[in-house]
Amino acid sequence: MTTLPFLPYGRQEIDEADIAAVTEVLRGDWLTCGPAVTRFEEALTARVDAPHAIACSSGTAALHLAALELELGPGDAVVVPSVTFLATANAARFVGAEVIFADVDPATGLMGASHLEEALARVPAGLRPKALFLVHLAGRICPELPQLRAMATAHGMVVVEDACHALGSAMIFPTGEKTRAGDCQYSEMTVFSFHPVKTVAMGEGGALTTRSSDRHRRLTRLRAHGMTRDPADWFFPDQGLAPDGQPNPWYYEMPELGFNYRASDIHCALGASQLAKLEAFARKRVELAQNYDRLLAPFFPSVQTPEPHPGCEAAWHLYVIRVDFAVLGIPRAGFMARLRERGVGSQVHYLPLHLQPYYHQRYGDLCLPGAETWYARCLSLPLYPGLSAADQERVAEAVGSALA
Ligand SMILES: *Cc1c(COP(=O)(O)O)cnc(C)c1O
Repeated sequence: MTTLPFLPYGRQEIDEADIAAVTEVLRGDWLTCGPAVTRFEEALTARVDAPHAIACSSGTAALHLAALELELGPGDAVVVPSVTFLATANAARFVGAEVIFADVDPATGLMGASHLEEALARVPAGLRPKALFLVHLAGRICPELPQLRAMATAHGMVVVEDACHALGSAMIFPTGEKTRAGDCQYSEMTVFSFHPVKTVAMGEGGALTTRSSDRHRRLTRLRAHGMTRDPADWFFPDQGLAPDGQPNPWYYEMPELGFNYRASDIHCALGASQLAKLEAFARKRVELAQNYDRLLAPFFPSVQTPEPHPGCEAAWHLYVIRVDFAVLGIPRAGFMARLRERGVGSQVHYLPLHLQPYYHQRYGDLCLPGAETWYARCLSLPLYPGLSAADQERVAEAVGSALA
């Protein structure tokens, strides 16, 4: 028997154009702080319909920069859905703010307005709710985004979208209003990651988008040590300006503490080359998800395919099936092992953050039944543009045999 290649749950799709784009940077003058960074940022603004983008070293760095820009700190509370990657909540802790974990819909893993209301009722006395870090899990835009924005605003909170899963997704809400992930119509900033399992790869990389030119300027400064070479920002223009009124060539100021969260030209060249294929990647992900829906339908009700998501053109980042392992009497680890025996990778997205030891020690026992139900049942199957129809059939067969 020939062994078939292992199918991971996600992976990058690199072609010769990507390799050529990176090679061109390596042969050029700028490995970092050069024109490829601006080109990538311009390409991203065009793709997501936002006026400003700031490339940075990871999605986690982008979340940290958002928390810094909002001046979150001790005494502030940030509402975060419990079903997300660690970094969404950790960013609040980086700046000393506290996290209030919100529950999610057990069928989609998404947070809605009722979950925000319930989370706000749990904010301890003495903490000020300042921000909502919302997550568009698996590539679906939260259907109640407009209501969540309105509720957050009514409570004096700012919304940041963690769209690390949702690059390329768009949504028409029941009210007829439209949004594209990253356009910041319902938020102050949107965060993306370009880790290789995400829809567009940079190796390591991230970005923020915003509609505010002030936030853009400040985020750019925070990304690079808090430094500014712009005379308009200087405290001591008499030191920075030469007698002819021109800026002194060596001079810069650091009005506040920043980080080195830059993305290099090498990474940005890869990112820009990948972004040129975003529409094709997104289309392929939609097609693959539809194909899985069809291939896995015979296993219903043991296997539940993703709920339909009306109005959303989801550039699926993950294809998550739900299996009631407890009712079926099959441990999930055993199910995953049987898939693996057939060369099929799978993963759990995510272990709810309120159950992580760090957060459990800090906030104690929390009961978030939607998040816990989602966690108990979810399993992500391989999804990436290089997956073939034959690969998908192999995945479906493996699921069938793991159920048997
Ligand atoms: C990947 C991811 C991040 C972190 O991005 P990195 O680029 O890996 O730092 C944050 N939030 C979510 C939802 C993610 O999926």
